[in-house]
Amino acid sequence: MVTLLKSPKSMHLPIIDMHCDMLSYLCVVPGANPYSKDDIACAIPWLISGGVRMQVMAIYTDVRPESMKLASRQAAIFSKLLKENPVDLAFANQTFLSDWNKQNQVGIIASVENAAGLGNESASWQEIYAQLDSIIAQVGKLAYISLTHHTENRFGGGNYTDGIGLKVDGKKLLDYIAGKQIPIDLSHTSDLLAEGILNHIDTQKLDIPVIASHSNFRSIWNHRRNLTDEFAKEIINRNGIVGVNFLRAFLDTDVPERLFEHILHGFKVGAEKNICFGADFFYTKNFGDPSRIPFYFPLAENAGKYNSILESLESDLSENQLKGLAFENALNFYQNLWS
Ligand SMILES: [Zn+2]
Repeated sequence: MVTLLKSPKSMHLPIIDMHCDMLSYLCVVPGANPYSKDDIACAIPWLISGGVRMQVMAIYTDVRPESMKLASRQAAIFSKLLKENPVDLAFANQTFLSDWNKQNQVGIIASVENAAGLGNESASWQEIYAQLDSIIAQVGKLAYISLTHHTENRFGGGNYTDGIGLKVDGKKLLDYIAGKQIPIDLSHTSDLLAEGILNHIDTQKLDIPVIASHSNFRSIWNHRRNLTDEFAKEIINRNGIVGVNFLRAFLDTDVPERLFEHILHGFKVGAEKNICFGADFFYTKNFGDPSRIPFYFPLAENAGKYNSILESLESDLSENQLKGLAFENALNFYQNLWS
């Protein structure tokens, strides 16, 4: 019998993923369990089987009066998750990253998706600063902060609020996070907010790295959640990273293989050292909009799929490019940031 051996180029590469919503799932869904593979596509068993070595877990809230309380609860859930699962999980800090090749656990690190979690619409600045400091104290380190989500808040305009840019409070928050080794995320900004953030960083000479944690490319699929080439190039020029999103709505609602085109487009616009994964797995069972089902195509339906996605790209990308995409670009970014 002849056994055909597959090219081992990308087999079993370790993975860094820049975005999932495990924490809000554990916070709001009754009976939620981080090991439930049926409930959430980034459940710990999926992360382990997919070879994920670093997973960013977002502290997500929408804009509402209780947003700060919800964010604090998720920060506590993050540290509890680490404490209760020491065999499977580790804290993805700079020590973890510097011993990268020795790691065999899933490194996790928190981020803030929507600064409503730092300050609701009526919070004082004293409360906002205290909330950010207390979240950092709880989770150890933040992989990034996104000022908005889909809607508008006191800091600026989200993806679906065209024409609303960076507000005075947004500037003030940027001034506060400058120099704290916390990247700002453009994945949930309106275009005008992205522009405002970049301009404010430049005119005030703020030390704030810029990334897009979970966004695709608008020139491949025209959606407001995706980046224009112009913003992608801004991130690349600032040595940031761009995490490719697996959600069907942001890839192409009908063509699964468009995922590969988004990735290859990233290389085409110059993101060879910047592109990474930002799959965006979340709890989908309480989601109102039926047109979003299925949320993911089978080829990218859970965190076990990264290496098969890399295999599909073997004829288009070199070994080093695949490594960059799998983990090296994001690893270099955080090693530089935190060293
Ligand atoms: Zn998101």
